[in-house]
Amino acid sequence: MNSLADEALATHGARLTIDLGAIVENWCRLGAEAPGIECAAVVKADAYGCGLASVAPALWRAGCRTFFVAHLSEGLALRALLPEAEVSVLNGLLPGTVPLYVEARLRPVLGAKEEIGEWAEASEGRLPAALHVDTGMNRLGLRVPEALALAGDPLIRRAGIDLLMSHLVSAELPGDPVNARQLADFVQLRAAFPDLPASLANSSGIFLGRAAHHTLLRPGYALFGGNPTPHRANPMRPVVRLEAGIAQVRTVEAGESVGYNGRWTAPGPRRLATLSLGYADGYPRAGSGRGHALVEGVACPILGLISMDLIVLDVTQALGASRGATATLIGDELDVDAVGRAADTIGYEILTGLGSRYVRAYVE
Ligand SMILES: *Cc1c(COP(=O)(O)O)cnc(C)c1O
Repeated sequence: MNSLADEALATHGARLTIDLGAIVENWCRLGAEAPGIECAAVVKADAYGCGLASVAPALWRAGCRTFFVAHLSEGLALRALLPEAEVSVLNGLLPGTVPLYVEARLRPVLGAKEEIGEWAEASEGRLPAALHVDTGMNRLGLRVPEALALAGDPLIRRAGIDLLMSHLVSAELPGDPVNARQLADFVQLRAAFPDLPASLANSSGIFLGRAAHHTLLRPGYALFGGNPTPHRANPMRPVVRLEAGIAQVRTVEAGESVGYNGRWTAPGPRRLATLSLGYADGYPRAGSGRGHALVEGVACPILGLISMDLIVLDVTQALGASRGATATLIGDELDVDAVGRAADTIGYEILTGLGSRYVRAYVE
């Protein structure tokens, strides 16, 4: 063992390295797409699996002042980390939670008449909130006609509403006609609430251009290195690197099988390496037989079914594969989008599923 980092790998099997400097650079890069417009940070789901307690203070130090989370519990955790930040809770106001919002100075994102009424009673115009209008997702938010009917209603002021927002359905597909429909609806909403600042763009929405920018950007995924423009090269810096130690190397002969249910059978002599990492660490089991890892830059196929704690690679072409060496499961050309594709899912799910058993290392 030649370093502390290697020791951590030996005791925990694998290591997740999270580059806080890259997150900050990505936040600046996204803001630069829309000069003069404020860029918030969406840090729900433990900052997309990267660790709220490290990520939020790093963004704050870089100048980010506005944050979004999904749940009230996430808002309470963020308030404890950043006493001065503006924190909005996207999933809306649930019955009985008003005192918790007030106490922690959190902002609910109000998406139904009942929520607006409840908040107005507590706020009387003094406690701020956002108004979520549904322009196509059909998950949360007032319908467009419902929202338009509230234009000029004193309830808006009583509920302390100081931000109008909506969410894009298919922002990562710039050619999808739903984008134009949502942009047009949002223009109509802004005209009905001319005094309200407004936010529409998630990560991919930022790359739809000025018509999507309005007054506040709301990126999540791209901050954490996900590609907001999947039809083009990724403009973001990679943030996470997942490396696992090689526990054993062996050779097998033609006809021998690997792993549970013998899903892979060697077509000829092969060299195999067994990694100390499995689906219990958040590496998707659906990547069995499809994903790769990199050993000294060589792409090594994942063989057979991924186990709870182990993954077997074909390292026949990777001469550097040996006991104690490392394999990269996420990092370099294996970005989170590529790992997601190999498991029939999206990079978002890879990030938010990152495990907690391995060592986590933060670098600036
Ligand atoms: C998650 C979320 C975002 C961030 O979306 P990304 O695609 O991760 O950038 C923005 N707004 C709302 C309402 C969300 O739920």
